[in-house]
Amino acid sequence: MGYLKFKADKLFNGFQFLEENKVLITDEEGVIKDIVAIENAGDAIQTFKGILLPGLINCHCHLELSHLKNVIPPHTGLIDFLCSVVTKRDFAPEIIEKEIIKAENEMYANGIVAVGDIGNTADTAAVKSKSKIYWQNFVEVLNFTDEKADENFNHFKKVAQNLAASLTASALNHRTTLVPHAPYSISPKTFELINTATKGAIISIHNQENEAENELYKTGGGDYLRFFKIFGFDKSPFPVTGKSSLRSVLPYFTNGQTIFLIHNTCMAEEDVIWANDYAATHGLKLVYCICINANLYIENKVPPIDLFIKHNCTIVLGTDSYSSNWQLSIASEIGAVKKHFPHVPLANVLQWATGNGAQALQVDSFLGSFVGAGSENRRKPGIVLLKQDLSFAERIL
Ligand SMILES: [Zn+2]
Repeated sequence: MGYLKFKADKLFNGFQFLEENKVLITDEEGVIKDIVAIENAGDAIQTFKGILLPGLINCHCHLELSHLKNVIPPHTGLIDFLCSVVTKRDFAPEIIEKEIIKAENEMYANGIVAVGDIGNTADTAAVKSKSKIYWQNFVEVLNFTDEKADENFNHFKKVAQNLAASLTASALNHRTTLVPHAPYSISPKTFELINTATKGAIISIHNQENEAENELYKTGGGDYLRFFKIFGFDKSPFPVTGKSSLRSVLPYFTNGQTIFLIHNTCMAEEDVIWANDYAATHGLKLVYCICINANLYIENKVPPIDLFIKHNCTIVLGTDSYSSNWQLSIASEIGAVKKHFPHVPLANVLQWATGNGAQALQVDSFLGSFVGAGSENRRKPGIVLLKQDLSFAERIL
């Protein structure tokens, strides 16, 4: 079997930039074989302008919402955004299917190799069963009251079983777990059912995307009451704890889960410190997932990334869905982070998008880095070319 050889202006291995003039060598299937100095690489080297890096990891998406592209205008604020999402979901199944196919193609072409994908339905099963992307499916439970907890939990459990069953037959890779949607959509008993069902699993929760979420738990009031009206509630269905939303709900998790905290746009420093300490002392692992373009789209805000760096949080990137983004591109997320946080070294942001994402999704034995080249694990992470100006990425293998 022959070898393929790749060189660009810069080579990033998933954790750091390598010295100049290194050549990445793979077999014809893309299995990483070696990284060598150019003088030892022989001939037939493919040379590119830009940064070569492993396939990109999108830790938060909702592929099933792809038909909401351009449906909800930017900068409405989260509460109006949520009201739009829940009232604008009735599209013809053919349109939903067509837009899911387009979005999966787009992510594949722009170098995304693994996705943490939220769904409340099994609408994405057909596309995922043929996809070359690795899917961590997060089947998201929504249930406001304890009275309905068993019924709704069982409904979403069936969705998860259907999704997993339809993927097992043909998909290369996937994993499916039940997850809570957000502190503003899950009752105490529902949290307990999810905790029991997710021992040791990777789960996710939308966290502090808006300050009103904290107000809801601190006082029982605030803007979320408008959202609850759609579902027939005149007051908050959740207990008033006097604490921030995260402090109110994280203690429901007692089973060694890895928890992706999604957004964290309005997370205070005291909550970051508390959450990291709580996780460390209670056997949980926290992953901070930044979806900066979605925050800009919905609220025109950015998450407090400097705080997460200061407190050594594990950071990963996500696109969120087409309901709240202009594209599904991790390159665009990298570009937006660097635009708003120019002092953060590019190597850090690239690590969030590759090595960190793969470790968080526990797919790092085969994705997310060029490290371990030449070992027996058939690491085949995909090879992506990112433009130096961070405007665009494309898969080259
Ligand atoms: Zn989301």
